[in-house]
Amino acid sequence: MTVTTRFAPSPTGRLHVGNIRTALHNRMWARRNGGRFVLRIDDTDAERSEERFVDAIRRDLDWLELTPDGEERQSARFALYAARFDRLVAAGRVYPAYETAQELDLKRKIQAGRGLPPVYDRAALRLSDAERAALEADGVRPHWRFKLDHDAAIEWDDLIRGPQRFDPATMSDPVVRRADGSWLYMLPSAVDDIDMGISHVVRGEDHVSNTALQLQMFAAMGAAPPAFAHGALLTGAEGKLSKRLGSVGVDHFREQGIEPEAVRALLARLGTSDPVEPILDPEPLIAGFDFSRFGRAPARFDEAELAGVNARIVHQLPFDRVRDRLPAGMGEAEWLAVRPNLHRVADAADWWAVIEGPVANAAAGEDRGYLADAARVAGTIDWAGDPWPALTGALKVETGRKGRALFLPLRLALTGRGDGPDMATLLPLIGRERTIARLSA
Ligand code: GLU
Repeated sequence: MTVTTRFAPSPTGRLHVGNIRTALHNRMWARRNGGRFVLRIDDTDAERSEERFVDAIRRDLDWLELTPDGEERQSARFALYAARFDRLVAAGRVYPAYETAQELDLKRKIQAGRGLPPVYDRAALRLSDAERAALEADGVRPHWRFKLDHDAAIEWDDLIRGPQRFDPATMSDPVVRRADGSWLYMLPSAVDDIDMGISHVVRGEDHVSNTALQLQMFAAMGAAPPAFAHGALLTGAEGKLSKRLGSVGVDHFREQGIEPEAVRALLARLGTSDPVEPILDPEPLIAGFDFSRFGRAPARFDEAELAGVNARIVHQLPFDRVRDRLPAGMGEAEWLAVRPNLHRVADAADWWAVIEGPVANAAAGEDRGYLADAARVAGTIDWAGDPWPALTGALKVETGRKGRALFLPLRLALTGRGDGPDMATLLPLIGRERTIARLSA
């Protein structure tokens, strides 16, 4: 079987962390199996779909390095939906219904009053030809429902949730097309999954009951269904469904200095039995990706955890990956020297400023004599070798200082702060002239 997955966002807003996770899982599964990952733009709803969101979805996926292998748009496929729809109507699996929204609402209220579930009563199926003709003559346009087969339970083995079972008699026949001819999500999605050869539908658990309905649509269209994997939902750090997560997306990550590698490393493992680790290379993440590792409990998305993963990702980023984002003049040696001290790539600028200067000497006044000695010694050591051990070694012998008393005043004078990158890597970058000037300041 060739594996083909699809990520099917509706372009009615920006991607948020939940969608991003779905996109990632679809792509990882395709990659893991040498398959294809398709972006399907679900833009059947012309009112709510916006081109700027289509562009934003593409850009966000590119930034995340989850670029799809192909793109399809539902709005370009209406003729196919109509052809499948016509066949289902001819086969009696899709039928016209004439109730208004108010009538349906009233039916549901009556059912609720009797303690019954709000399942559509199929009154439209009991209309006689004459009644239907009369409605049509009055200008009432029907909407269209898919007729569920009530004969057998709907069952599938979900790759994440395990065996699933739905009783179709407890479900309303879903509306698949509105009276104005426009499409609802349900049928076009099943048509596309067949037509695009989708082998695995990977999406959130909010779609589980849609899957039950769509399984009957696959059968009614004579197609074998894809496999399904419904991921548990994400919650906020507090463990509650969080409204805020809806606004956490690529823009937010960029503002926070979060790298795409960090987003991927976290979201690949969140909700699985595997530990979240700052894995830079996509390959090992992909190789270990399996739906069987995912649990059914909601997964907690914690921004503090993401920031932690991000820092550990930044510590591994090669120069090529960041060079465009570093201050002008900052080279590979400087990057490698400061990288272990960063939470975000942008913070490299702070250390570049320290290397370049000017730096306000932060050493205590009582160390002035010691620093004058250091300035003199700095003029005598071999800068081509390892100047830091040379400098501190000579000062140790000359002054009898050791440990903190030996090192800290130097750091404070040379960098203006008490902590930071390893001085042995930093000192050659600060260089002889600036070192002597700062120690004598
Ligand atoms: N457009 C649907 C959504 O965003 C797609 C669901 C699916 O993956 O089938 O929820």
